[in-house]
Amino acid sequence: MHKKLFIPGPIEVKEDVLEKMSTPMIGHRSKEASKLQRDISDKLKKLFYTENEILLSTSSGSGLMEGAVRCFTKKRAAIFSIGSFGDRWFEMAESNGVEADLFKSELGSITTPEMVEEALSTNKYDLITITHNETSTGVMNPIEEISKVVKKYPDVIFCVDTVSSAGGAKIEVDKLSIDVCITSSQKALGLPPGLGICTVSERAIEKARTVKNRGSYLDFVQLYDTIKKKDYQYPSTPNLSLMFALDYQLDRILQEGLDNRFNRHLEMAEYTRNWAKKYFDLFAEVKSASLTLTTIKNTKNISVKDLNAELGKRGYAISNGYGDLKEKTFRIAHMADLTLEDVKELLNVIEEILSLK
Ligand SMILES: *Cc1c(COP(=O)(O)O)cnc(C)c1O
Repeated sequence: MHKKLFIPGPIEVKEDVLEKMSTPMIGHRSKEASKLQRDISDKLKKLFYTENEILLSTSSGSGLMEGAVRCFTKKRAAIFSIGSFGDRWFEMAESNGVEADLFKSELGSITTPEMVEEALSTNKYDLITITHNETSTGVMNPIEEISKVVKKYPDVIFCVDTVSSAGGAKIEVDKLSIDVCITSSQKALGLPPGLGICTVSERAIEKARTVKNRGSYLDFVQLYDTIKKKDYQYPSTPNLSLMFALDYQLDRILQEGLDNRFNRHLEMAEYTRNWAKKYFDLFAEVKSASLTLTTIKNTKNISVKDLNAELGKRGYAISNGYGDLKEKTFRIAHMADLTLEDVKELLNVIEEILSLK
């Protein structure tokens, strides 16, 4: 039996979107391939409210995160972490020999604009990374306020991990002056895994040209120059199957309307938070709670593992807490094409299993 996924990626994918994956192949150096990739870029620019270029990577989002920290740091990277995915970005810097410092917040808390100001005002850094939506804790960072601080430092490249928020929350790349905004196909965009997606500013690319040892497969300059020279074709053979699905899914997203889509996510988040407060508690403060997933404090000391096993028998899956938060919390994702009705259905089943009613 298929389990309906309420986990923060991979998420449920619509049948018609899945079917697009079986579109017959085309040559990746054909005009059709150029058109497909150009169309995808045009649509993604709308989703990200940007005129910056779009780069696709046949890797998951982590590939672009690793490429970014490597390609855009010349002096030193300031890596802000509010959980596992922020920590991972720091590990990527270290393992690539990129000089970096880690600025950690307590689990469940945000990166404050003050922390960013304090770090950048030292003038030690030329790259900053922020996790927009930390999937391990269900916390969403105040990206607007953070961007106001970063804008005061024009020599700093601003990289944001929007892997679990893009497509579910409004991220206005140009307004926020984000240089590199990274996401993955399998989260709020509602596709199977296998594509990394990002926006990249021209000034970031110009900066990267002066950085040595950018690597090869995930070298932003090579990706950028190739799509410019070859009409949106990539250096290596890309994941065309996913591109067919992405092109189609972006039509669906734009047809729904971006504001409608973001409102639907807000509705699902608010409903889940209220439910959590009624029976358990929220792990994050409401004002910094994520729009795409809710992390619930396990105040009733239930076995999350057993709950998930029972849910599995009924055709649903949620996520246990991440890392140290396992069993202490559990996570319900409400992203991509899930609806309020889906969320109500799931929460009803949980109430039944736990005899909460
Ligand atoms: C899932 C996730 C990642 C990793 O993305 P992959 O596509 O699995 O490489 C990074 N950051 C956040 C916030 C995530 O949720």
